[in-house]
Amino acid sequence: FRRLATHAAYNRLAIIDPADTTSSPPRQYTYAQLLERVTAFREHVIGAAQNAQLHLEGARVGVMVPPGVDFVAAVLSIWSLRAIVVPICLSHPLQEIAYTVTDSDQAIILYHSMFRPRLATILKDRVGLDVNSTSKDAVPNEAIDYAALHWPADTSSTIIYTSGTTGSPKGVVHTAGSSEHSLRGLAQVWQIDPQDRALHVLPLHHGHGFNLSLFLPLWAGATVEFMSKFDESRAWQRLLDPAQPPITILMAVPTIWVKMIGHFDQNIKNDIKLARKAKNAAASLRLAISGSAALPGPIRQAWADIANGYLLLERYGTTEAGIIYSGNLESNGRVLGSVGWPVPGLQTRLIADDGRDVSNTPGTVGEIQVKTPGLLKEYWRRPGAASKEITSDGWWKTGDMAVVKAEHNNAAFIQGRASVDIIKSGGYKISALDIEAAMLQLPFVQEVAVMGVPDPTWGEMAAAVCVPVEGKAEELTIANVRERLRSELAPYKLPQKLHVLKTMPRNAMGKVQKKALREKCFPNSP
Ligand code: ATP
Repeated sequence: FRRLATHAAYNRLAIIDPADTTSSPPRQYTYAQLLERVTAFREHVIGAAQNAQLHLEGARVGVMVPPGVDFVAAVLSIWSLRAIVVPICLSHPLQEIAYTVTDSDQAIILYHSMFRPRLATILKDRVGLDVNSTSKDAVPNEAIDYAALHWPADTSSTIIYTSGTTGSPKGVVHTAGSSEHSLRGLAQVWQIDPQDRALHVLPLHHGHGFNLSLFLPLWAGATVEFMSKFDESRAWQRLLDPAQPPITILMAVPTIWVKMIGHFDQNIKNDIKLARKAKNAAASLRLAISGSAALPGPIRQAWADIANGYLLLERYGTTEAGIIYSGNLESNGRVLGSVGWPVPGLQTRLIADDGRDVSNTPGTVGEIQVKTPGLLKEYWRRPGAASKEITSDGWWKTGDMAVVKAEHNNAAFIQGRASVDIIKSGGYKISALDIEAAMLQLPFVQEVAVMGVPDPTWGEMAAAVCVPVEGKAEELTIANVRERLRSELAPYKLPQKLHVLKTMPRNAMGKVQKKALREKCFPNSP
């Protein structure tokens, strides 16, 4: 709040709200105007809590509001009352929304009226506050000095649910202190400042869209321009719009980069003049960042081909510990296939299966472990669950495997989740991500997810679920895949099973839930 008050005092521009209709222009909000709206929402939340005789401090308050100024004002109003924000996924089916609402036992839900029908059953026994139809300029009972508002570092502030790649989603509790540590560190690492303008294209219920793409630029006093929902054609249109101030930051997940590349190839590439403009626009993004899932080398290369050689900055992190590795700030200091080096403000190490510290042993795979003040406080209502992931000497075990390479100054290369991406076959440990990157180079493979399935002889074997390139389904056979990959991959890495799908099931963050996919596609594996 202190920082927001400073940005307000300097009259900085905070938010560009998406236009409601194509004919209405986007609306701009300065930090001062944003704080006015926070004050209005705060009054409504206080009123709703009083009516229901709820105690707000430490209460969980859900937010189901589309991207825009009202989402930000809702979150800030909750924090200002020392309650805990739980952002709700807008696209989840009712059952999953009900899971997070019940798991975090939300006392109040701030929602946009468009979600009222979907929330109807949930709101039967919770207090709901429709932020769309409440007045946006309520007069406060008392003047609020936002510069003076701040909470002890261990005050729980936010619960973000993980995507559930490895099990049911867990509520990750962060505090005022852990969040501030992460924001302060990253604003420095990525040198974000008030001149920056970030295009926000991600869902807001996840650490990537909430902490990184939204509150990081706001912490730094930059401007956040929202898209109500990601759309590759509109994103390109915005990047190419000479009438608007240039976008300097675009954070996205690999599936979004794939869509941006696909749109360029299909709709821009063949128009020489437009293509030149688009390439310059792509190259002029100061920070084009990918994260939340592995970015296969061919995709990163395809963007570099569009963006005049600009290599996307890939970073690696988790909801629990924040960003752990990041590529260099300068594009030419980044390494294809790598997430870069540990960010300042935390310690990392790689621990091999036999317990050896292989942080400085290039080529040997180890689990990423981290010590950071940005670590979660706990998993919500799962006593002891977080401490199980901490070693006796205080390191957080991420469950992700990586290897460093000497030729790149010990840059880290993610090998994947130990539980789903590392295939243990005949004494080898194979990274599913390596096989996926190789398969994506095949001209008939559009999308792929590789996983281990049980095998009586080898323990596990690699199996691939693929979506073919349109018109090339016939070429997508296991024999063809193996034949074409023989020069790329060692024989023990070649996939032995193939399942073809029309579309790849992905969650709201574009992630493939491999455990569920394995059960669906290879149910009868021995
Ligand atoms: P759950 O913890 O419920 O299984 P999840 O794995 O999706 O869900 P998140 O915290 O949402 O958990 O995402 C963090 C995970 O995303 C990391 O542990 C890692 O596996 C993956 N990840 C993040 N960034 C990268 C990256 N650059 N490359 C590869 N994997 C990444």
